[in-house]
Amino acid sequence: MKILEKGPGWNIKKRCTGAGNGEGGCNSLLLVEENDIYVTSHTDITGDTDYYYTFCCPVCGKETDIAEKDVPSSIRRKKLDLYRSKFDRRLVL
Ligand SMILES: [Zn+2]
Repeated sequence: MKILEKGPGWNIKKRCTGAGNGEGGCNSLLLVEENDIYVTSHTDITGDTDYYYTFCCPVCGKETDIAEKDVPSSIRRKKLDLYRSKFDRRLVL
């Protein structure tokens, strides 16, 4: 097993595919770290909201969603809390 680059903490190698965001990514292979991930959401017509863990490609600027199972639950919780606190602040203003 060869480790090409291993940073401190969690990271995962992902290709820029544009998955979940209209496809059409540039196919760069990226090392995605905790700080690169943010939550996006989609609310369907029944009012159900799905949350996605998303990163933005530094090469082409396209967003790609990461499967929930690929993100550790501790990081998912942190990102969701951050997302909700931002959302609440926007409502207060
Ligand atoms: Zn890209």
